[in-house]
Amino acid sequence: MSHIVGNAAQEYVHANVDSASQRIPRPFVNVACEFCGSSESQFVTGPLTDDELADSLPPAFRSLTFRFVCCTACGLVYMANRVAFEDIDIYYPDDYMCFQSYDDRGFIMKRLAQTVARRKLQQIKALMPSTSNVLLDYGCGSGTWLALLKDIGCPFRMIGTDVVASPLNELRSIGIEAHHCDETTLLEHVRPGSAGVVHMFHVIEHLPNVTRVLRVIREVLAPGGVLIGQTPNVSSFGRRFWGDLWNQWHSPQHLVLFSDKTLRRHAESAGFETVNISSSISGATQWANSALRWWARGRRPFHGIREPMYPPLILAAVPIAVLESLFWRTCHMDFVFRKPA
Ligand SMILES: [Zn+2]
Repeated sequence: MSHIVGNAAQEYVHANVDSASQRIPRPFVNVACEFCGSSESQFVTGPLTDDELADSLPPAFRSLTFRFVCCTACGLVYMANRVAFEDIDIYYPDDYMCFQSYDDRGFIMKRLAQTVARRKLQQIKALMPSTSNVLLDYGCGSGTWLALLKDIGCPFRMIGTDVVASPLNELRSIGIEAHHCDETTLLEHVRPGSAGVVHMFHVIEHLPNVTRVLRVIREVLAPGGVLIGQTPNVSSFGRRFWGDLWNQWHSPQHLVLFSDKTLRRHAESAGFETVNISSSISGATQWANSALRWWARGRRPFHGIREPMYPPLILAAVPIAVLESLFWRTCHMDFVFRKPA
């Protein structure tokens, strides 16, 4: 995030106000392609606003818009104008959706999450190399998945890390090891070569420096260890259908959106072998969210209709996701990358 346009940053004087509601956004940071370094790009979509948080953002942040571009040289889709590092906290409040426990989101959502967690645990057991018993959840938020895995008897030593500090307390309160760190400090908390499985669930698209994070994760993994996770698919039929209403643009929190091709290339360039990239039926959630986004356009608040309508819309979208999966084009990709033994 170092390519600041012109000398706007130097000219800018940020008012040092205590009240969050009076915060003034710092100038955006324009970036080149993180994968190949090219600054040549084609417009993909925008202007996009943060509809999800709009009501809770400080007023001066509500009108900010973002755009996604596709690198002309390598095809990576990324957000070209990004929020300054000092303002990122505004977009990750304590009640950010991904920090919320499934316990608080109703019976259906909790049951769905428990089913996913059981499948996840089977997968982790099958992939954990015999030399390790460490499961690291990188970007764990409030530890939703680790807590669910603990509930169903996960036998491994679980560690959660996140760049946002406060949600980690929830994880510590149930006795799971948690560290506030990013890729530059991860190895101070987790021994290199010690993790058998690293889990990154809807995290990779939030990273400003995917390659650097993947390299550090490779280092923290034991030989033969795997990185598993899920990320949106920018080549999905859902993205084409919904256009700029597609929920996974999720600006400005999502910085990079992968296709199976760009995801594979990124992981392999960081020293991983691709075990599998597959389409997940859970992409139905993005049809549900995109439909809610369409409904909410121009109406406020977004959250008011979200919780009651979300589960039935997900169920209604499952047949669509099943159809998409026949063409490997659901809104979510599951991935498994291995550190060579
Ligand atoms: Zn590129």
